[in-house]
Amino acid sequence: MPEETPLRVAVIDRELCNPDRCTHECQRFCPPVRMGIPCVEFIDGEPIIREELCIGCGICVKKCPFEAITIVNLPKALETNLIHQYGMNQFRLFRLPAPIKDNVLGIVGRNGTGKSTALRILSGNLIPNLGDYSKEGDPDKVLDFYRGEQLYYYFRDLYSGKLRIAYKPQEVYLLPKAVKGRVKDLLDKAYESGDIDYVVDTLNLRKTLSRDIKELSGGELQRLAIAATTLKNADVYLFDEPSSYNDIFERMTVAKFINQLSRGKYVVVVDHDLAFLDYLSDYVTVVYGEPGAYGIFTRIESVRTGINIFLDGYIPADNIRFREKPIVFTSIAQKHKPETYPALKYTNLRIKLGDFELRVRDGEIMQGEVLGILGPNAIGKTTFIRILVGELTPDEGEILIAPERMAYKPQYISNEYDGTVEDFLKENVGEEATSRWAVNSLLKPLNIYNLLEREVKNLSGGELQKVYIAATLLKDADIYLLDEPSAFIDVEDRLEVASAINRFIKLNKKPAAVIDHDLILIDAVSDRLMVFEGEPGRLGIGGTPTNKREGMNKFLSLVNITLRRDKHSGRPRINKPGSRLDREQRERGEYYYVT
Ligand code: ADP
Ligand code: ADP
Ligand code: MG
Ligand code: MG
Repeated sequence: MPEETPLRVAVIDRELCNPDRCTHECQRFCPPVRMGIPCVEFIDGEPIIREELCIGCGICVKKCPFEAITIVNLPKALETNLIHQYGMNQFRLFRLPAPIKDNVLGIVGRNGTGKSTALRILSGNLIPNLGDYSKEGDPDKVLDFYRGEQLYYYFRDLYSGKLRIAYKPQEVYLLPKAVKGRVKDLLDKAYESGDIDYVVDTLNLRKTLSRDIKELSGGELQRLAIAATTLKNADVYLFDEPSSYNDIFERMTVAKFINQLSRGKYVVVVDHDLAFLDYLSDYVTVVYGEPGAYGIFTRIESVRTGINIFLDGYIPADNIRFREKPIVFTSIAQKHKPETYPALKYTNLRIKLGDFELRVRDGEIMQGEVLGILGPNAIGKTTFIRILVGELTPDEGEILIAPERMAYKPQYISNEYDGTVEDFLKENVGEEATSRWAVNSLLKPLNIYNLLEREVKNLSGGELQKVYIAATLLKDADIYLLDEPSAFIDVEDRLEVASAINRFIKLNKKPAAVIDHDLILIDAVSDRLMVFEGEPGRLGIGGTPTNKREGMNKFLSLVNITLRRDKHSGRPRINKPGSRLDREQRERGEYYYVT
């Protein structure tokens, strides 16, 4: 059988490409160019790669000093599934999921694989060009393309104005720039139907009503955007990353709220919190691919199958492997046994900061143990860690045993640094920050190896977070303290952070404390748990660390959910309220999975 020519995808990252600062290696070393074939050309000083002439040798990829080029071969058959391409040598989206009426469709996948692009297409804000990027997208062509398929009816109704859309975009932090005024005014303006009091109370916005939008915290802004979206009288509700900035309590509230919305409607949700997405979705589709280069949607699956496909990195129906290794939760964590002597120990602590008071019950972190810390926002978790590292002095109580060298990743990280990622890592860790061992065991798995030359100032939020995590874990320290390591990073990197913590800290028998709102991350790394409760902004009470079962039970009863464990992947799953397992576990007082 003759070998089929693959579909060649050549992508140039225009932010990395800097033709004034190189010697046009992509063109000079290109074998076809050397034979007189214009595979790489410079037009207006910018390179373009002609995919139909490219032989896929990958020499330009290696020679480019900025690592700006990606070349991949995809199955030819995908060509007919090209939905949108942003331009010459730019990102391509293959396939699109069809929303399902009366149901919530969850979308999971890496950053830069086209999730927001897909939502913009489903919202009608972006008419897909089906690969012909020389022209604007044309609704008639889209309808022709989908004739006979489910999406035909969706787009027909969308383009004829029959489907009304409510869309919460990803970037809620842009909201205060776009709208001015008080929270109440914005909600009144957005209001079309529904019970505004119910929405305000469920999303815990009552206290913010008379505040100015620009004074809101990230979580409040997110919930306001969700509220305004759901108060629209729409047929389709699209939510792009609704869990961001919200604490774990608020995430559960938002999940229940969005799940209830679907009657008679289409609901689509993109998110990186797997427990959240698992809980609120009725179906899941995975998008995989090469970030920045292309993304491919899988078919729509049941929630469990979809998430397991994502974790396995393998689509059985198509026999496609999109990640070398599956993501597993339990292996290292289970083999690991912490010591029985404390690495850190403190008495009852008390501190008053302005109107806020924190009380922490005495406790210790054992040598070799990872202490997971859970609680709502503004309850004193960060304050507690800052006491441990000596940034704050408690009014009462003391640290009895303090490890000498502490590696601390603060919650708020800054990109104000003059220099590259490599400079930053070496300055914080030393020369060994880029040793072969560090590269293979951390920088590559976290996908920051290819960022070493980039300026820290120009990193995205997720990239910056990963660089800070690496700079912390690579330090030779006696204890590791990580405050919200999953913030801004995508689902795959979160799971990679969990396994890096397991590899780096547990295998070296170091102690650590990790604050996070991602339940799956906390479940995957923690040996014991510390739960904070109280009244956010007023009084926080940090409990004594307990074993995981006890800690989870306490926490889950506070958020009022029960968990079971997926047999295939070992990940915790939230039971649907009122389901058989939910009722049984509640009766027994076992909110946490029973193994
Ligand atoms: P995700 O939401 O999965 O993170 P996006 O859909 O936002 O991904 O983006 C996918 C890719 O498309 C990214 O590489 C992004 O840089 C690129 N992209 C997004 N919008 C545009 C645009 N208007 N022009 C060119 N490229 C774009
Ligand atoms: P968490 O990490 O649980 O979200 P924090 O420990 O950051 O909470 O903060 C707890 C509360 O203490 C918040 O209401 C915060 O505004 C307040 N707070 C923190 N630091 C100070 C300070 N230096 N002065 C006054 N209030 C503070
Ligand atoms: Mg996005
Ligand atoms: Mg905090």
